[in-house]
Amino acid sequence: MNHVVPLLDLRAQFATIREEINAAIQRVVEAQQFILGPEVESLEREVASYCRANHAVGCSSGTDALLLALMAFDIGPGDEVITTPYSFFATAGVIQRLGAKPVFVDIDPESFNIDVAAVAERITPRTKAIMPVHLYGRTADMGLLAKIAERHGVPVIEDACQAIGAEYRSWRAGTLGRVAAFSFFPTKNLGGFGDGGMIATNYQDVADKIRMLRVHGMEPKYYHKLVGINGRLDALQAAVLRVKLRYLDRWTAARQAHARCYETLFAAHRLDGWIQPPHEPASLRHVFNQYVIRVPAAHRDPLRKHLTEHGVGTEIYYPVPLHLQQCFADLGHRPGDFPNSERAAAETIALPVYPEMTAAQQMHVVQSIAAYAEAAGQRIKRSAA
Ligand SMILES: *Cc1c(COP(=O)(O)O)cnc(C)c1O
Repeated sequence: MNHVVPLLDLRAQFATIREEINAAIQRVVEAQQFILGPEVESLEREVASYCRANHAVGCSSGTDALLLALMAFDIGPGDEVITTPYSFFATAGVIQRLGAKPVFVDIDPESFNIDVAAVAERITPRTKAIMPVHLYGRTADMGLLAKIAERHGVPVIEDACQAIGAEYRSWRAGTLGRVAAFSFFPTKNLGGFGDGGMIATNYQDVADKIRMLRVHGMEPKYYHKLVGINGRLDALQAAVLRVKLRYLDRWTAARQAHARCYETLFAAHRLDGWIQPPHEPASLRHVFNQYVIRVPAAHRDPLRKHLTEHGVGTEIYYPVPLHLQQCFADLGHRPGDFPNSERAAAETIALPVYPEMTAAQQMHVVQSIAAYAEAAGQRIKRSAA
């Protein structure tokens, strides 16, 4: 029995859909139409329908989807965008890239998402957007955030890059703000064979503007109304993603089942006092792009090393919160500014949760953690004696 458990096993996934994928790729190769075109248009309709959004626009990456969303609201120098410091770099990177200022609000420690109750006090006349992230596949507290945003007349831009299919109450990510960005980076729940992304929105004017901005602000051909970017999705990605989209709900259900199984196994191994598993409120559909636990900070890196030695892939999402990144030094933040984010960066570790993981593999992950905890407990006892 092979007990190696990678963090993600895309080859195992590909093995289940090889023929369909190869046929889809062949279709594009035969058509020789590679940029935008009918495959991309079909994917846009299918993703819009999946997200129950009126419009979807294919983009070159999740990062470009976020960038285009901000550009659609003319965000630039002098503007502020409120967001979380505990996310992938792109969330704040796109704000700074446009010459605007990322204004961070710390996370709620339970959800790892922006502490919505603290957003209102950071709104100023310069605030042009609020950008929550649905981290790990769990939606932010969008009900309260929508009320705050509406009261101040500020649009909400969802960073839904990790959260396709996630729901807040019965609404899907992609319709919880004015516009949402998705990523098709290969490690996302719906991952392409390269870079890709999509925006979703219920607003025709936003969709139209982003369609124009992603082709250099051009409409009609060679007439440029705006200075846009080359932010297009290609047909090969769209063809692959159209196949995978049909499996997404099955894969999501498998991720959710693994998450529940982890909790049962943690309890069975008496790890439930030591590990904090992710919360999954009944009113949300958590799609578990990542399954992230907390352990005491002193044990996080040694546990990770132990798991690596036992063939278990893990990752730290993310080791340095954005306010402490070198490139944002100009913002003047210091350690201690966002304690919940800094604590999460020190205590969290992502475990394998990919759909194809077997029961034996999952058991191996938990038994390896249990072996570490037992040994560490003995060490703690000895040093205390
Ligand atoms: C993946 C990701 C992005 C960027 O997506 P790319 O497709 O890699 O550009 C942005 N924000 C978050 C939260 C992400 O996880």
